[in-house]
Amino acid sequence: MENVIVIRYGELYLKGKNRAFFERLLIKNIKYKLKNFNCELEVGRSRYLVKNYAAEAENEIIAALGTVFGIHSISVAVCVPNNYESLEKHAVAAAPLSGTFRVSVNRGDKRYPITSITLAAKIGDAILRSNPNLSVDLHNPLNTVWVDVRENGTAYIYGKIIGGLGGMPVGSAGRGLLLLSGGIDSPVAGYMMAKRGMSFDVLHFHSYPYTSEQAKNKVIKLASVLKKYCGKIRMYCVSATKIQEAIHKDCSDSYMITLLRRFMMRIAEKTAQKLECGCIINGESLGQVASQTLESITVTNDTVKTMPIFRPLIGMDKQEIINIAEKMGTYETSILPYEDCCTVFLPENPVTRPTISKTEEEEKKILNYDELLSEAFDNLELLKVF
Ligand code: ATP
Ligand code: MG
Repeated sequence: MENVIVIRYGELYLKGKNRAFFERLLIKNIKYKLKNFNCELEVGRSRYLVKNYAAEAENEIIAALGTVFGIHSISVAVCVPNNYESLEKHAVAAAPLSGTFRVSVNRGDKRYPITSITLAAKIGDAILRSNPNLSVDLHNPLNTVWVDVRENGTAYIYGKIIGGLGGMPVGSAGRGLLLLSGGIDSPVAGYMMAKRGMSFDVLHFHSYPYTSEQAKNKVIKLASVLKKYCGKIRMYCVSATKIQEAIHKDCSDSYMITLLRRFMMRIAEKTAQKLECGCIINGESLGQVASQTLESITVTNDTVKTMPIFRPLIGMDKQEIINIAEKMGTYETSILPYEDCCTVFLPENPVTRPTISKTEEEEKKILNYDELLSEAFDNLELLKVF
């Protein structure tokens, strides 16, 4: 008798003719996660099995599968011979100790001599006889004992379903460029896009020497946590120092952030084109700060003409975002108190309702704007590949 891990996938089953494409990616991503374990992946119809692994590695394998988008749920099952005596014995062993339960039988092998309904009734009876503390509830049980009878003389029995991340396999929805700051929001924005199958590269703006090496290392750390959920990430950084100094010297204070945002977006668009990313991703949430009002977003958005900007957090509350950051493991790093480039030269009263025409007027005050833009882009630096 051995343990196997049953993997079920979620939304993929909705895919008609394209399903094979999504499945291939999911299998590839699962295999990548399992590559450091000594085990086998058996690919069946609508679910996969991890087999022949060392018992000590079980929890680690479960944790690794818990980082794969596209997996709906997993269960640890015992693999047993499928004759009736064996099913009954192992189902009794897998039953809960108290509360209500039901037995749910699936026959992959329709030639099996006992029907699913009869099997469930007989096994349920045996479980009841073995433990008087239990009672049956077919409609709303606290526990379910699943019995999955397979074709090859075996059956899988399990009592627990562990939820997976859901979503679509990473790599199935194109590639974007994530604007990653050291804050709480932008890592979550990347995670949300990865959940829908998008892979991404990362761009970070620093304002060295106003921002420190530690601030940069913090962002590298954030990207390394994100990597757990994504495919390959190329991480780039650009200096925003000179444009910030120019804005500070020449423009109205209250436009500092608006103008910086537009500069960032222009660099982001050029970088995305260079890296063949089809969109820009950021962590804006409507109304969260002055630069995230409808008017501010309109003015920032206006600079990007060739691709969409995705803002997966636009309708989320801060607490909802924090909950995800905690779950994915970036929160602790995000709250470390290093300065971000947006906190350098921070104005006391940033505009909340900028207009495009007024912003353009301010922008024109920087006479060497195009030069600063080219210079920053020319110094795009590849920081790390994860
Ligand atoms: P975050 O928590 O992600 O920093 P925030 O609430 O602090 O977001 P802003 O500082 O207004 O909001 O930034 C909005 C978005 O702009 C960020 O989510 C991020 O995508 C991008 N951004 C901000 N600062 C940087 C930076 N230094 N480098 C790259 N992207 C940035
Ligand atoms: Mg920020």
